[in-house]
Amino acid sequence: MRNLIYLIIIFSFACNQPAENTPTTPFVMVLGVAQDAGYPQMNCKKECCKRAWKNPDLQRTTSCLAIVDPISKEQWIIDATPNIKEQLQLLKQKTGTEKLDGILLTHAHMGHYTGLMHFGREVMGTDNLPVFAMPKMKNFLEENGPWSQLVKLENINIKAIKSDSTFSLNDRIKVKPFLVPHRDEFSETVGYEITINGKTLIFIPDIDKWEKWETDITELIKKVDYAFLDATFYKNGELKRDMSEIPHPFVEESMELFSELSNKEKAKVHFIHLNHTNPLLIEGSTAQKVVLKKGYNLAEEGEIIKF
Ligand SMILES: [Zn+2]
Ligand SMILES: [Zn+2]
Ligand SMILES: [Zn+2]
Repeated sequence: MRNLIYLIIIFSFACNQPAENTPTTPFVMVLGVAQDAGYPQMNCKKECCKRAWKNPDLQRTTSCLAIVDPISKEQWIIDATPNIKEQLQLLKQKTGTEKLDGILLTHAHMGHYTGLMHFGREVMGTDNLPVFAMPKMKNFLEENGPWSQLVKLENINIKAIKSDSTFSLNDRIKVKPFLVPHRDEFSETVGYEITINGKTLIFIPDIDKWEKWETDITELIKKVDYAFLDATFYKNGELKRDMSEIPHPFVEESMELFSELSNKEKAKVHFIHLNHTNPLLIEGSTAQKVVLKKGYNLAEEGEIIKF
C-alpha cells in the first residue's frame, strides 16, 4: 500500500513538472505555423491537403507564439487562434501549465483573435485576463458581441497599447508593437518585437507586401536576432483567384529581397503563417529544399527559441 502511495506521489509530481531541457531563462515557443484556417483547410479536397486529412501528424495549427518566463512561471501568447485549446496543451507539455498571464493581439482576422471565445462563461470564465490590444482592436472587442460580453463580465481586461511604444511584461521581458500594412477592415494590424536578455525577436504573421511598409525589412533583419515572417503563399499563381485581393509577400519574393543578406542573417528568418496551398507545408517538397538550402528556417510547432 505504501509503495502505491509513493507511486501516486511520484506520478502526480512528474505530471506537473515542465519537460526536461526547458530553458531556465525566458524563451519563446512556437505553438502554431499555419495561416488563419490551419492545415488542412476546411473542405479542401485538393492534393495540398489530401495526406493531412488522413494523417494527424501532418496537420498544423494557426500561427501563434508563446512567451514563457520560467523564473516567475508566467506565460503569454501572441494571438488567440481557433486552435488555442490544442496549443495550450502543447505549451503545457513544455511548462507544466496552461495558465496564461496575458494575450497579445495582432489584428481582427479570424486566425488571430477568435480563440478569445474560450475565456468566456461557456468555458474558462477567466477573471480579468489581460488582453493587450491596439486602439481600434480594443474598440472592436468592446463594441461587438460576443467579445463585448467578455469585457462586460470581466473575463478579459483589455490593456490599450500604442505602436512603437515599448512596454514590459515583467522585469525580464519587453514588448513593442509596430504597425504594418494589411487589410485593416476591423482593426489595425501590428507585428511585435520581443526583447529578452538584450536579444530581439520580431513576429510579423500578416503583412500585405514588404514594399508597402515604410520600414526596410532587410535592414530590420540585420538588427534583430530572430525574424518570424509572413510566408502565407510560396509564389504567385498558387491560388486560382486574383491574389492581389489578398496580398502577402510571396516566399519567393522575400527570398529575392533578402538575397543580399549574409548566411548568418538569413538564418534569423523563420517563415510562418503558411496557407494550406503552400508547398512549404509538405515534408521534403522541392520548395522546402530550396528554402532550407538558401539558409532560411521554417517555423516548427514546439520549437523553442532561446535568448
Ligand atoms: Zn492571418
Ligand atoms: Zn488544401
Ligand atoms: Zn490577417
